[in-house]
Amino acid sequence: MSQIRILPEILSNKIAAGEVVERPASVVKELLENSLDAESTQVVVEIENGGRSLIRVSDNGMGMSPDDALLSIERYATSKIYKNEDLFSIRTLGFRGEALPSIASVSRFSLVTRHRDADTGLELLMTGGKIQKVTEIGAPVGTQVSVRQLFFNTPARRKFLKGVQTEMGHIADVVASMALGRPGVQFKLVHNHKSLKNWVAVSNPADRVIHVLGAELKEGHITVQHDDGYLQLDGWLSSPSVTRKTSRSMHIYINGRAARDRVVQHALFEGYAGRLVKGQFPMAVLFVRVPLDRVDVNVHPAKNEVRFSDQKQVHDTVRSAVARALQQVDARKWGRRFSQEKMLFIKEKPREYQRAGAWTASQQHEEKQKEALTRSMKTAVSPSSVLPLETLSDELGELTADTQPVGGNGFSKQAQIWGQTRFSDLKVIGQYQDIYIVCESNQDLILLDQHAAHERILYEKLKQSRKVKIESQGLLIPEIIDLNYREAKVLEKFLPELAPLGFEIEPFGGDTFAVKSVPAVLGDREIKTLVVEMVEKWIEDGSADAAEKAMDDGIKLMACHGAIRANQRLTDVEIKVMLEQLDACENPSNCPHGRPTWVKLGKAFFEKAFKRLV
Ligand code: ADP
Ligand code: MG
Repeated sequence: MSQIRILPEILSNKIAAGEVVERPASVVKELLENSLDAESTQVVVEIENGGRSLIRVSDNGMGMSPDDALLSIERYATSKIYKNEDLFSIRTLGFRGEALPSIASVSRFSLVTRHRDADTGLELLMTGGKIQKVTEIGAPVGTQVSVRQLFFNTPARRKFLKGVQTEMGHIADVVASMALGRPGVQFKLVHNHKSLKNWVAVSNPADRVIHVLGAELKEGHITVQHDDGYLQLDGWLSSPSVTRKTSRSMHIYINGRAARDRVVQHALFEGYAGRLVKGQFPMAVLFVRVPLDRVDVNVHPAKNEVRFSDQKQVHDTVRSAVARALQQVDARKWGRRFSQEKMLFIKEKPREYQRAGAWTASQQHEEKQKEALTRSMKTAVSPSSVLPLETLSDELGELTADTQPVGGNGFSKQAQIWGQTRFSDLKVIGQYQDIYIVCESNQDLILLDQHAAHERILYEKLKQSRKVKIESQGLLIPEIIDLNYREAKVLEKFLPELAPLGFEIEPFGGDTFAVKSVPAVLGDREIKTLVVEMVEKWIEDGSADAAEKAMDDGIKLMACHGAIRANQRLTDVEIKVMLEQLDACENPSNCPHGRPTWVKLGKAFFEKAFKRLV
């Protein structure tokens, strides 16, 4: 990197104005960007007390000359752009020239740097943005920035900092994101003198992807590659059966810069269209390259948003490349038949239906918050198999009111509604679409949603874990789960709560866990997905602090995963057992998420429909 200069005023005004220091993780991000721009091959991030006490980034990059070091802490001082046109061809991660002065103004700051051509280094100490001391010292080539007592002089902001684990979670996310983007650089993350991550430099980006995102992607990742001269795409996708509940595992890099880009995110979803159910997100790492002058990176001070000149072209190219890659590896496995004995624990369901019925109120709430992206995604990822009951009600139109069961009231209400007190007394006619169980009761036709009903049964069964011992089933081969730092902390916290439910999960070093046994009702379900979903839910809802609520959410997810799916043929015996189990439930009329488990079509409905009644 050549010399630092102060940007002329006109140019500095063009730079999206803003404060870049929001929390410790934003400091880490800015410092890492500088280290990477300085061509470092090794960076070490040391944190103490979640970043409250210390944030230190050391690199072996090109370093700065003494003059440059002094300039670097001036506002709008940068070596990365000089003139107007440079804004349109930014190759570096930084260009705003405001990170160091901003960070220095709200901390006790020290910069030690030695340029690769210099014999000695310089140390610069600052407090609250004022230079305290400048000394010539011996130092290795490279730069080390230490930020102590962040926000010490802005108490309001210091108060706003979250707990150590939360801030560390954000920091770990930033380091992971940077590490994914630069596989050729070694990244170390140390917290309170304990090494958390050490990602060695690799020449094959796929190796870094696996190191960072874990074995889950290793098992069945799908490679995407495309190059048409304008857009170059390299990426790794999870198979549609490995999904997450948030978009956080979708890592998108535009010309090397991590970006939460809606265009590419949406294209990625559309590429998966038909393979994901509402609320499922793929894991993905996508590197998109377009000509530098066809993308504006100066959209937001945090530099993690971009604007493409050719938005539609980018979208369509990414979408079709993803779709093509998935088609090639379309390993859709259709379910085996299940034995009567094991009946309610059926193996290998078509993944598409796995989460039918899992669309909970809180997820809907979550969904609302996800703004435009998610809104558009919904259309892309909601196959008609989801929410069949809604469709049914739509079709019923005016008669809907008559068909809704009264939730939460158990037998007495059922008795009033269909004149019989027990589900097991219903006359079973059969199965409709392999989704609904069709029964007759006196004058009425009763339809049960098999997934919702079974979900209710499992939910109540698991809820009793405090009183009744839940049967546990050992796994022949322990299931190994790789989590990120934050997820691991949360799972660790809930291990004692999970034990009475039949889960035997052991820490396996680092952020890895080994699942040794599971509740028997989960049989041979995809345990990894379930555990990850529970952890994500706890993090998303912040329910990690409320054990009771968290376990209830966890049990709902277990019930959903364990329950038979829609599109599952059931035998007469299976249906009978299910109705009996439903009778034993406290609230058989609603699934744990509040959706009805059954609807009634009264005699009047048919009379009207067939115009027997005038
Ligand atoms: P920007 O990165 O936008 O240019 P910064 O305030 O982050 O602005 O950094 C100012 C300048 O200081 C950079 O342009 C670069 O020349 C120099 N600099 C900062 N950090 C490093 C580092 N780790 N190694 C070498 N040079 C650095
Ligand atoms: Mg910078």
